[in-house]
Amino acid sequence: MKGSSGSGKKQTGSSPCAACKLLRRRCDKQCVFAPYFPDHHPHKFINVHKVYDASNVNKMLQKLPVHQRGDAVSSMVYEANAQVQDPVYGCVSAISSLQHQLDGLRAQLALAQTEWILDSDDVTYPAATIHMKAGSIAISTVLIMDVVSQ
Ligand SMILES: [Zn+2]
Repeated sequence: MKGSSGSGKKQTGSSPCAACKLLRRRCDKQCVFAPYFPDHHPHKFINVHKVYDASNVNKMLQKLPVHQRGDAVSSMVYEANAQVQDPVYGCVSAISSLQHQLDGLRAQLALAQTEWILDSDDVTYPAATIHMKAGSIAISTVLIMDVVSQ
């Protein structure tokens, strides 16, 4: 077997980037993929190509200023991996899950703030209430009304 890719032989700087290697094309100094898809991370490009197609990625990167390309590639890699793992929701699944967690944490915070206010003998609690966000105030108001009505 030529090349013996499993031999641990270190590749030189002249070897094609992961994208050009996968696409079986010549990689030169002008290659738009090379800075972001190095040859030692071949898996990084595979899902990006599968989801976006290399020609579209090429066009997207060409349109961006060089200083934004790294972030764009990171975003594409994340989204492509999520899309491959979850073909229905992709990264929306993670966003939705985090949004749900955030909503739960906000509700817990509002409850804790309300309990703190109700348990506190501190006369400054109206000021603390004012600093709460709208959702917290609504929950606090409901809880205070419940306590008052008992
Ligand atoms: Zn290349």
